[in-house]
Amino acid sequence: DAGAQKERVVTEEEWLQKWEAGKTGFHKEQGHPLLQKYLDILLNGRRGLRIFFPLCGKAVEMKWLADMGHRVVGVEISEQALKEFFTQNGLPYREEPVPGTVGAKVLQSMSGNISLYCCSIYDLSSAIVGKFDGVWDRGALVAVNPCDRQRYASLMISLMEKSSSYLLVTVLYDPNKHKGPPFYVPESEVKSLFG
Ligand code: SAH
Repeated sequence: DAGAQKERVVTEEEWLQKWEAGKTGFHKEQGHPLLQKYLDILLNGRRGLRIFFPLCGKAVEMKWLADMGHRVVGVEISEQALKEFFTQNGLPYREEPVPGTVGAKVLQSMSGNISLYCCSIYDLSSAIVGKFDGVWDRGALVAVNPCDRQRYASLMISLMEKSSSYLLVTVLYDPNKHKGPPFYVPESEVKSLFG
């Protein structure tokens, strides 16, 4: 039972404020050990993949995968987070408007292999970003408001190629003791969301 979390809503404004105030305890400077551990499952021997980072923040794993020769696409509402990603990793970037959207822009590394969309994930579709061979979902499904989970999962499924792999990190704890995010997402719910 998700308890009181079902009703909880974190607004985009609140996320932007967390970034401004530096309350980004979710960011892992060293990257996530579970991506290292399960990398082979994500890649499955394939090279040159398109990999999606939903709600990407300034995750350093984006650079890891780009350095391995993959193309990385992320989406994040905080422009500050995206700029910090490029500057803190010493990567020059350019900004461009995204055709077919109202006010979204994309920040792209000069080498073109990392494209980070600055907009809400709900503004994206496969017509805009294409489809992906792999997804790294850490701090994403668990950060989405519980009332939006179904919509999020349907969107993610629509962005996946048939042969794609999806690595998902969720958190388990007593949802009556913390209000989240990260929200409690048990395996039974993952199964009902993604089938
Ligand atoms: N995945 C990252 C960040 C996790 S925190 C990591 O592992 O470090 C969740 C992030 O989602 C925050 O940076 C927040 O600004 C962003 N976010 C929240 N709602 C969003 C939305 N609707 N669309 C895009 N990004 C969003």
